[in-house]
Amino acid sequence: MSADTGMARDRARDLIQRYALAGPATPVDRIVKAEGALLQYVPLDDELSGMAFIKAGQPVVAVNALHHPNRQRFTIAHELAHLVLHRDHLAAGVHVDKSFRVSPDAVLRRDAVAASGMDALEIEANAFASELLMPRDWVERELRGGWDIDDGEKLALLAKRFKVSTAAMQFRLMDLL
Ligand SMILES: [Zn+2]
Repeated sequence: MSADTGMARDRARDLIQRYALAGPATPVDRIVKAEGALLQYVPLDDELSGMAFIKAGQPVVAVNALHHPNRQRFTIAHELAHLVLHRDHLAAGVHVDKSFRVSPDAVLRRDAVAASGMDALEIEANAFASELLMPRDWVERELRGGWDIDDGEKLALLAKRFKVSTAAMQFRLMDLL
């Protein structure tokens, strides 16, 4: 199966519309609950970011309680993607996500995700999460004044505004440019 990131991004934009969200920051915790999932913060090993599963018909999203809140937000959006896009897959068992941390070098390479050998489900979930937290038009609105790839201050400001890690924002900007 090859990843359908266009479909994943469309489904994320559907949620933005359904919840009438107009700008940053996307309330992912509220959305995941409104979509019927139980959201749990549990202490996990550092390399585990979260998991999604269905227990007695109840969808559950668990996120590492020890991670930074911005990272937790990406994890929640990623796990929500599995619930929205990959419900059949979850029926087969617990989906566990290891850290998506990428090296600063890898962040600058467009093909880093593909090269990392992540499977189609993960690529789709990351595309969904990225679109949900950093919708294209919201980001483009912020960049109207222009953006310099070396402008670390602006990057930090954007990350803060969207409540995402600077790595996630940098990855998104590379994707949009
Ligand atoms: Zn995943």
